[in-house]
Amino acid sequence: MKYIGAHVSASGGVENAPLNARSIGATAFALFTKNQRQWAAPPLTDKSIAAFKANCLAVGILPEHILPHDSYLINPCHPDPEKRRQSSDSLTHEMERCAQLGLKLLNFHPGSTLGLVSDSEGCRLCAETINRALDKVVGVTAVVENTAGQGSNIGCRFEHLAEIIEHVEDKSRVGICIDTCHTFASGYDLRTAGDCAGVFAEFDRIVGMKYLRGMHINDSKSAFDSHVDRHHSLQQGLLGDAIFEFVMNDSRFDDMPLILETIDETLWPQEVAWLRSLIK
Ligand SMILES: [Zn+2]
Ligand SMILES: [Zn+2]
Repeated sequence: MKYIGAHVSASGGVENAPLNARSIGATAFALFTKNQRQWAAPPLTDKSIAAFKANCLAVGILPEHILPHDSYLINPCHPDPEKRRQSSDSLTHEMERCAQLGLKLLNFHPGSTLGLVSDSEGCRLCAETINRALDKVVGVTAVVENTAGQGSNIGCRFEHLAEIIEHVEDKSRVGICIDTCHTFASGYDLRTAGDCAGVFAEFDRIVGMKYLRGMHINDSKSAFDSHVDRHHSLQQGLLGDAIFEFVMNDSRFDDMPLILETIDETLWPQEVAWLRSLIK
């Protein structure tokens, strides 16, 4: 079974996110549990937590199909120990908020080395940050997202993802989210069915499909191998239909959140319906 949604607004309170998901016909969703551009956040109130859980139940969306995303400020592999500590505290805090909401996943980017350490060292530092968060919070899986590899961001090669996982102590609580736009922009072609099969065979060989916990379903405004992260609405970018047909018809993408982060949210109801229509 496929669970499709979008990164919906939680404005006015996290409890609004499941309602926003329902309004676009979604059976999955992503959200920020706090303001994504600030370090600090007021604690979640008991009332908000209860309303969130009640609304998820009311719209019939399970925690397994909800993929919260962390703040943009967090850099899990920051080479400066003080700054990394701040990111590590913040990631732990975000994981705690997920646990409070009864959520099981937390999606984040592996971060940037700022060109100060090797990619390999960046992967090790990222894993250290993950280990620290997993040590403090139970019940939540750290879901590392692949990146377009813009600037000095790590996570654009499947080898980076494998290397991060290698250094995580509790392998049962680390997973991967693959973003279709980032994959294409980082140099893995997805424009034909054969490309898609090849890329995921490579992912399986290097990382392992068993670690895949969610997908970001985006078309790409940026060119193949451009290392530029620019999402586009489905069927309006450079990807074509092949990757979306591939994901919708391969059972390895069952039972996980498939999340749109496309740029025109007025199109989300149509995009969700279109994805569903691809299922043969
Ligand atoms: Zn993404
Ligand atoms: Zn992106």
